[in-house]
Amino acid sequence: MSDMQSLASSITAVTSPFRHYLHELHERYQALNDGAVADYIPELTLAKPEWFGICVVTKAGQVFEIGDCDQLFTIQSISKAFVYGLALEDHGRDYVNSKVSVEPTGEAFNAIVLDEKTNRPYNPMVNAGAIATTDLVKGANSTERLKRMLAMFKRYTGRDHDINVPIFLSEKATGFRNRAMAYLMLNFGMVSDRVDETLDLYFQQCSIMVTAKDLAMLSATLANGGVNPVTGERALDERYVQDVISVMLTCGMYDGSGEWAYRVGMPAKSGVGGGITAVAPNTLGVGTFSPLLDAKGNSARGIKVCEALSHDFGLHLFNVAQPAHDLAECIAGNDADNW
Ligand code: GLU
Repeated sequence: MSDMQSLASSITAVTSPFRHYLHELHERYQALNDGAVADYIPELTLAKPEWFGICVVTKAGQVFEIGDCDQLFTIQSISKAFVYGLALEDHGRDYVNSKVSVEPTGEAFNAIVLDEKTNRPYNPMVNAGAIATTDLVKGANSTERLKRMLAMFKRYTGRDHDINVPIFLSEKATGFRNRAMAYLMLNFGMVSDRVDETLDLYFQQCSIMVTAKDLAMLSATLANGGVNPVTGERALDERYVQDVISVMLTCGMYDGSGEWAYRVGMPAKSGVGGGITAVAPNTLGVGTFSPLLDAKGNSARGIKVCEALSHDFGLHLFNVAQPAHDLAECIAGNDADNW
């Protein structure tokens, strides 16, 4: 993007009726106090229930931020989608598929269950599949593997990321189910024997600090075919973008994935830190942050925001009806009378 283009798009982002629309969404759902913050480790209970940020980044690189979009929180399970992309780049589709299937499961994300016939974990979005995916991240040692992972996230978001060390240590100290799954997969030859190193890497990847804006950049990059729409840097090989997005659609929202696909229809991934990243392919990325989670572990306010965006602008993947509003017109300001 040229300097003039980026100036024009940042002016649009400040004055556009779309910003006004997002502001209204934020106000409407700030009042919603359903759900509870995650409490499986004490550090996550420190999240403030009122935190709420909505960020949208368009394919043209326009950034709309409302509310707590600079508040840091841990990426948690959202990392799984992007590490899957890295594993695909490192090994290619066939090899990765031989270690991790792409079948949705109605089971909880931390279920200790593998496909009976192939011994593969069901998909890269449940913990077993995510650990198998993390195992596939190449690197001579743990430091190099972590560095490659952090560099990958930087390509997507355009900035450096830190690990929240207390959360990492807490995940590591209490992650007995994850440890059990990893050793079960070692037994079946689904992961390599550097199990403890991989588990550390998995706990670190869950503890990466992000903001709602980062989550919007992550999904906008996928929406834009793997290229960060603001920096122009490629984050993911174009060949694998479809793979990552497909698994997000079928498995990204824990055991609420079917209902999400039905109601929202945007490939997405959520995490217990309170984030959701959602992709409207070829159009935009949404990042939301609110730590109040519903019973399935998805951010209650985040779900409402994505539902509204999908409905109002026809962003459901299978939408064939005329939406209430035209996104491009709304962003450009031609739809101003309607807001
Ligand atoms: N760190 C969590 C775990 O592995 C991930 C939680 C999540 O689903 O966001 O159990």
